Amino acid sequence: PRQFFVGGNFKMNGSKASIKDIITNLNNAKLDPNVEVVISPPTLYLSYARELLRPGLEVAAQNVFDKPNGAFTGEISVDQLKDTGITWVILGHSERRVLLQEDDAFVASKTKTALAGGLGVILCCGESLEQREAGETIKVVMSQLGAVAAKVNDWSKIVIAYEPIWAIGTGKVATTEQAQEVHAAIRDWLKNHVSSTAADNTRILYGGSVTEKNSGELAKQPDIDGFLVGGASLKPAFVDIINAQT
Ligand code: 13P
Repeated sequence: PRQFFVGGNFKMNGSKASIKDIITNLNNAKLDPNVEVVISPPTLYLSYARELLRPGLEVAAQNVFDKPNGAFTGEISVDQLKDTGITWVILGHSERRVLLQEDDAFVASKTKTALAGGLGVILCCGESLEQREAGETIKVVMSQLGAVAAKVNDWSKIVIAYEPIWAIGTGKVATTEQAQEVHAAIRDWLKNHVSSTAADNTRILYGGSVTEKNSGELAKQPDIDGFLVGGASLKPAFVDIINAQT
């Protein structure tokens, strides 16, 4: 009974023309009606995407700040996102953790603020290659999620995205077994540290080199409830990933 969820993270890619093309393709495509679909263009194009995208498909920001308003040059607020029809936000992406030095506590604070304002949060977690090779995958992921659990009790509007850093943009997708193992561990962690309701209901997405070629097998795993797609979300084959279960 967990609704399959597919997010498209455009990252810092696209122009008005290319985003319009992607959205026109999505608007006209036959999408599995049982799938929740959310696209995430760069901040500058959020409103534009919302205006073009057909109802029923949602738009996510790639970031939000943890203060309501004020002197925070370059940041945007939860209310500003909601004012422009944006209903989701991606937080804790490894690119922001690594390149922008966002730590667990900051990600948790932004998650809390976004949820309090009524946004859904796509909360990313995942280990580096060094951490995986050192056998620290589960420990790293649980401490990333634990920082959020320390500030947030209600996980009903959180979707977790497990994105091993070594699989992002590398063409090196996790095997179905590697992904399923971590997803099951996350669900177990939810049961023990949040609630059994959260464990049953929280969608856990896989992200990292998902394509229309590997999405079908991944989607069959019992604890994989969807995808967070980077590069392939910019291509027409994104539709096939959305329809991976059909
Ligand atoms: P790729 O699908 O390009 O590997 O990116 C995954 C990702 O980081 C989605 O947030």
